[in-house]
Formats: sequence, structure tokens, C-alpha cells
Amino acid sequence: MTDSISRRPATVGVPLALRAESSAQACFICDEAILRRLGIDLAHPGVMPFSVPPEQPPGPFLDIHAGDWETSAMLAFDPDGAGWPDPPQTPTQPREMKMKTQVAIIGAGPAGLFLAHLLKRHGIESVVLESRSRAYVEARVRAGVLESGTIDTLNNLGLGERMMREGLVDNGLDMRFRGRTIHLDLPGLTGRSVKIYGQQEVVKDLIGARVAEGDPLIFDAEVVRIEGPETASPRVHYEHEGVARTLDCTFVVGCDGFHGISRAAVPEGVITTYTRNYDFAWLGVLVKAPPIPDMTYTNHDRGFALCSRRSMSISRLYLQVPASDRPENWSDAQIWDELHTRMFDTDRTEVKEGEIFQRDMAQLRAFIASPMQYGNLFLAGDAVHIVPPTGAKGMNMAVADARVLARGMAAYFSGGSRAGLDRYSEECGLRVWKTIRYSSYMTGLLHRFNEHSPFDRGMQLTELEFISQSEAAQRTIAEQYVKLSDVAD
Ligand SMILES: Cc1cc2nc3c(=O)[nH]c(=O)nc-3n(C[C@H](O)[C@H](O)[C@H](O)COP(=O)(O)OP(=O)(O)OC[C@H]3O[C@@H](n4cnc5c(N)ncnc54)[C@H](O)[C@@H]3O)c2cc1C
Repeated sequence: MTDSISRRPATVGVPLALRAESSAQACFICDEAILRRLGIDLAHPGVMPFSVPPEQPPGPFLDIHAGDWETSAMLAFDPDGAGWPDPPQTPTQPREMKMKTQVAIIGAGPAGLFLAHLLKRHGIESVVLESRSRAYVEARVRAGVLESGTIDTLNNLGLGERMMREGLVDNGLDMRFRGRTIHLDLPGLTGRSVKIYGQQEVVKDLIGARVAEGDPLIFDAEVVRIEGPETASPRVHYEHEGVARTLDCTFVVGCDGFHGISRAAVPEGVITTYTRNYDFAWLGVLVKAPPIPDMTYTNHDRGFALCSRRSMSISRLYLQVPASDRPENWSDAQIWDELHTRMFDTDRTEVKEGEIFQRDMAQLRAFIASPMQYGNLFLAGDAVHIVPPTGAKGMNMAVADARVLARGMAAYFSGGSRAGLDRYSEECGLRVWKTIRYSSYMTGLLHRFNEHSPFDRGMQLTELEFISQSEAAQRTIAEQYVKLSDVAD
């Protein structure tokens, strides 16, 4: 069975088209003449015109969604009995296919996936377009510290079961310098703790639920252009399976990370950016070895290091390295030598060695773009702000943005008020600046800076001495570590 437009196997594309229409359970593509013969009203809401390039069979063709059952066939009709031309022997030319939704979400990272689930809870339809494959997105190792607001959000969505079972509660944050350790007792200082649960595990849970519920999440779908972001009906252009497609919507949300295309869709001069690039990076490794008990940052003359956990048998370890360095420049032995040294682990017993099975590099950067919206285009997560990872805030900020946006969209779609959405940038702005301030402060406190004079180094170590003796200073850090991304739902 072939479909009437591309003459490819009919199963390609139909399930996706159907899932984009919440009430539709069947789909055919027909010529207009057939519809008339069948007595179907062309203005029926279940009938949607398709755009078909001129070299394809005569049109206009129509996409009909109807009935209580689903068919995987898009039948090749032949209204005149003249037969279609032979199927092309060469691959078909790209065609344009259209879809429609309330909210088009670009990117299936934490920002996009949380937003899609939160919108669904408010009865709002969305389509998530992700340029990478599901396997790639689910395997991407990044953040791992969940603030209480993020934990609550996942639980309130009913998706926190695995996180609660497998995630580790972190009650302490340690900072080491001159061979001594400052222990921050998080519950004692703030009444809260954080959870260690890898970002890729959060992403897996969110994707699994979205797929299980049959809601549209299209992988290998690269958005190439946003048309009319300032209008009431923007259109997202994307490519999927070699075919150019469009998604019409009321709102577009760019959750496509720092290198995405959404921010660039805003005309020049509208957005102001604020940036600080550091000349060092983090070399991160995942290791099959039991972690040390508390997340531990260290400030050493040779540079910063961090020992954190992913599970009781997997450690996530980081070393400050020059920004121009590469993971493959480091042998395993060099990584272990440097970690033991910087952690003041002189007899090499505290940091447990094991198989290094994954390594990556994260550049350190602070970046804010403001405002976070333009017309009906909104930006969320790394698309609009980046924090140095020292504060462990990137994912938590992305989730907080999604919560504010979902609240604004819920108000709009239920009562027509745009007030919440219009305040989105303003509402997020102060939280974002505070988070960047905290992450930059921790970065400045703990890293080695090439430009530091002996005076600067003295000031840095004296700041750590002061923190070690001041409960107020410890509480200030602990408070920002556990709940800086709090927002009201
Ligand atoms: C290497 C690395 C390590 C990190 N480590 C930490 C850490 O230890 N702690 C911490 O708190 N934070 C860390 N972060 C930051 C944290 O992971 C991010 O803040 C978080 O991923 C932000 O989520 P997001 O959804 O905004 O963006 P992302 O997770 O980047 O998701 C954006 C998605 O958009 C997709 N996309 C991009 N362009 C397009 C397009 N044109 N069309 C369709 N889809 C597109 C991308 O493929 C991606 O899946 C790290 C980041 C990196 C890069």
C-alpha cells in the first residue's frame, strides 16, 4: 500500500500526523473530487488542506482525520480511473507537510520536556521537535544535582518514582582548601537537601512518559527556521526524514540550548547579551568506583577539582583544565594523579579508582540574553542563559523557566489573559541574575585563575578561611545551593 503523495510505504508519517491531532484516530489523504463524491464537507474541522508540490499527483489533496479507529494506510485514490503516473525510480523530491498545535517546543532537553509535560497537565497540546535521535539525547551525560523545586516538579507530574527510588539524597556539600574541609550541613543550615540523579535519567523518564502517552515528540527533526515569531500564528520549519515540514502554532518555545536557532530568530537589536567566557574548562569523567560520601569541591594550587556521585557505585569526577585542552590528551593515570593531588588525598585511599568509562569536556561560560521573549516566541533554559557548572544550576534553571512559562500559558489558554506571559522575562530575570551571580561567585572562589596575582590568591584563600569560621557565610552558600531556582507554580 502506498500513500497518494509520496508513493512510499503508507506507514511512514501517518502515526506522527495523527498524534499531532489530539482527537483524530484515523487518517486518509484524498483528492478533493473523492470527498465531494463521498459527500464530505470540505470545511469540516477534521479536513485539513495539504500543500503538495506541482510535480506530484493532481491536487489539492486533503488530509481527513475521523472515526474511532486508526489506520496505518494512506490510500492511493484514483478518482478519474486514469491511474497515477508510475512511481518515481529516483528518490522523491522533498515535499512540504504541515501540522498544527498550540505550542511548538524546539528541543527535548530538560526545558522542553518539562514544559511539554507541564502544559499537558493544563490540557494544552504541544509538539516537541528534537534534532537528535532518542538514543543520543538519553545518553547525554551532563548535570546531576536536583534542587528541591526540580524534585517537586517531577513528583507533581507523577514521574518522580524512579528518581525517588534510585536518586541519592545529598545532605552535605564540602569545600576543601589547604588540606582542610569545610562541611556544609545542608539540612542543618537550610532545612533542605538536594538529590543526585543524572540529567540523562531525568530526560529518560520524561521521554518514556511522553512516548507511552502517545504525545508528539519527534526525534531527528531539525528546526531550520521560525517564521513570524512576532505574529499570533508563528510557523516552525523543520526537516524530518529528508522532508521539509511545517508546524503552525500559537506559541513557539525555544528550548534548543546555547547553539540552537531560536535566539537567532529574534531580530538584531531586540536582545541584549551579557557574557563572561572563562579560559578554563572542566574535564569530566564517569568512573566505576564507589564515590566519596559528600559532593566535594577543592581549591588547590594546581586548580579546581570536584568529586561527586551518580550512584553508590558510579563516581562523577571533574578537573579544571585549560579551555583549549581535549579529553583525549589525558591518560587515565594522569587523571588519577591529578585528582588525588588536588583532593589532598596524599595516600591515594580516599578517591577510589576504577574504570573510566566516559569522558567529556564542558567550557565554562556565563551568559544571559534579555528579554527572554519576542512576540509569541519564548526562550527557556540554555537557549537564553548559561551558568558556569560550579553552582550546579543549569538544569534547575531550565526547569524553573518551564514552570513559569507553563503557568503563563495555562492562564492564557484558559481565560485569554496574556499578562503572565508578558511578564515572563521580568519574572525570570531576577532569578536568572541571582543564579549567575552565585555560580560566578563559586567559580571565582574555587578555581585557579591565570590572571591572579599573589594578592588575588591570598584574598581567595582568606575568603575560604572566613567561610570555614562563619556559620552565617556557610548558610549563605548552602541556601543558594539548595533553593535558588524556586518559583511558584
Ligand atoms: C557538557 C556539559 C556539561 C554540563 N554539566 C553540568 C553540570 O554538571 N551541572 C549542571 O547543573 N549543569 C551542567 N550543564 C548544564 C545543563 O546540562 C544544562 O543547563 C541543561 O541541559 C539545560 O537544559 P536545556 O533543556 O535548556 O538545554 P539542552 O539540554 O541543551 O537541550 C537542548 C536540546 O535542543 C536540541 N536542539 C538544538 N538545536 C535544535 C534545532 N535546531 N532543532 C531541534 N532541536 C534542537 C538539542 O539537541 C538538545 O537536545 C552541562 C552542560 C554541558 C553542555
